[in-house]
Amino acid sequence: MPLQPERTITELEELRELTGDEHGAQRVAWTDTWERARDWFRAKLQGTGATEEIDAAGNQWFTLRGDSDRALLIGGHLDSVPNGGWLDGCLNVVAGAEVLRRIAAGGQPPVTVRLVNWADEEGARFGRSLFGSSAAAGSMRDQDELASLDDRDGIALPDALRAHGVELDRALDARTQLEGAAAYLELHIEQGPVLESLGLPLGVVLGTFGVERSRITWRGQAAHAGSTPMDKRRDALAGASKLALSIRDIARAVGEGAVCTSGGLVTKPGIVTSVVETAEQLLDQRHLDATSLARMLQLAKDDAHRFAAEENLEVEWERIWSIEPILFDETLIRFADEAVREVSGTSHQLPSGPLHDAAEVSRAGIPTVMLFVQSLRGLSHTKLEDTKREHLELSVQALDNLASKTLTWLASN
Ligand SMILES: [Zn+2]
Repeated sequence: MPLQPERTITELEELRELTGDEHGAQRVAWTDTWERARDWFRAKLQGTGATEEIDAAGNQWFTLRGDSDRALLIGGHLDSVPNGGWLDGCLNVVAGAEVLRRIAAGGQPPVTVRLVNWADEEGARFGRSLFGSSAAAGSMRDQDELASLDDRDGIALPDALRAHGVELDRALDARTQLEGAAAYLELHIEQGPVLESLGLPLGVVLGTFGVERSRITWRGQAAHAGSTPMDKRRDALAGASKLALSIRDIARAVGEGAVCTSGGLVTKPGIVTSVVETAEQLLDQRHLDATSLARMLQLAKDDAHRFAAEENLEVEWERIWSIEPILFDETLIRFADEAVREVSGTSHQLPSGPLHDAAEVSRAGIPTVMLFVQSLRGLSHTKLEDTKREHLELSVQALDNLASKTLTWLASN
């Protein structure tokens, strides 16, 4: 049975019908709608010979035994944000199902092929993303914190998980799933505007950005808006404002996809009749290269100290979160490039701004690569999320070509 990329679109439409409403996709993890999506997915894989298993973290696995226990993994996530799009996460697994069916129809593959539907990639209900993949990768270290999380209705995370057969304390047992894993492939919509602006349907993802998140506190002096001359002011907002603009120059100067965002600013006393005494500013900086990321942070700090001197302020930096860049596997990037060129003529390599389950698998030391397919208007996490049908079909074909190349590679080494 040959690959039928158009079937992936039909199935995605079916899933949208089953688990969405007029506001978009409603497959939030650990809900009945999500469970319905998993049941639907199980039915789609019936007859392929793949066996199903739900692991200790709630990840849904379909395993097609091969001549060897070494495994090629293809993954994605059926869960969505509330009012989400019809493609984010589920294109990956539904396309993966089509590839698995094509492989199964050819007889026993040389290595085992496993399709995984990761549990709770989005973290939409409890604010913790990449739940299932971080458990399987063994990088989950925040169980105590997770145990204390409640959703908006006051339901505790451990109770919500238990209702779907998952014990938080045992989630890390999912680590055994990655034993024997030799390669991991993930197709995803880009969720950004780059491929569309280049007029390309598909791209190869080099890795996921490293992230530095800082809280910057500026301290000046509250003073009367009427009686304080302009040259006598110690205005904390002036420092924050200068930095909010200078990070744009920093990102431009460092380049190579660098992004800097000052996404939050709280001023005190925050009244119309006072100069700002303190300004608490949030900064998010991302780059695919660790050295460049460190340089961006240093440049921002240097600027901040200069602005503090200019405005007669004190400034303090605090790191609130950081993660190293994660680079995907060079051999698989090469295969992905070939696969994309075969189906669409031109390949383009780009980093991923958002984190994905693939980043967790890569951190666990398993050779990993991702394919991106163009997103229209760069929109995602909204019902407006969309991709041209012909591009979706090309993406299924590219994933299949990539899977074939990877299987041949794994079988020969
Ligand atoms: Zn996703």
